[in-house]
Amino acid sequence: MLFTFGWILLAHLDGVLWLLLFEGSEVGVAALLSGSSGGTMTREEVQAILQKYVNVWNSANHGCHLWVALAYPGDAITIPDITFGMNKDPHQVAGMNVRVHVQLIVLREDMTPESLLTTFFHEYGHACYERVHPGAFNEVDSEVAAICSSLELCVAEGFEELAYREAKSVKEIAANEPYRTAVAKLADNELWRKYVSGEHASGQSS
Ligand SMILES: [Zn+2]
Repeated sequence: MLFTFGWILLAHLDGVLWLLLFEGSEVGVAALLSGSSGGTMTREEVQAILQKYVNVWNSANHGCHLWVALAYPGDAITIPDITFGMNKDPHQVAGMNVRVHVQLIVLREDMTPESLLTTFFHEYGHACYERVHPGAFNEVDSEVAAICSSLELCVAEGFEELAYREAKSVKEIAANEPYRTAVAKLADNELWRKYVSGEHASGQSS
């Protein structure tokens, strides 16, 4: 289901979408689901933050809108604002051709608000990477961009404890590619080093 005011982000409707969905399942989704953590954020707060980033993206006018959808694995994703054949008498409609050029971020619907936010920030990093490198997709570099995005944006929005948690969860999946090489590339990255060091006491603000 799409958020009520119809967000949508970016991406070609190709393999990228499936990569994102698969990635979500890699990151230990069970730990992200509602009720498994004592977060204090609400979905409304998260939605407002996401909307801000979507607006920034869409106001940049680079010809590719960003869409954000919530879904469960296996769900069909509805293309927002596209309805078949309603611009003329329905009895006269036989077919239509629509060119869709969007970047689409899909988030697992039953995650906690905190996990919706950090997952969005991660996927937003992938989206920004793809926008800057059209046609030159490098899986590891995209992952580096996504990891950095999630840390940077958590901090920028004042959720530093989520940056620690995010770094920890990346570290936990870093035995597998492309995370392994991405994390190796981040060895000298100050932001990564700070948040992966794990010195933050979980659940307390510093
Ligand atoms: Zn990723």
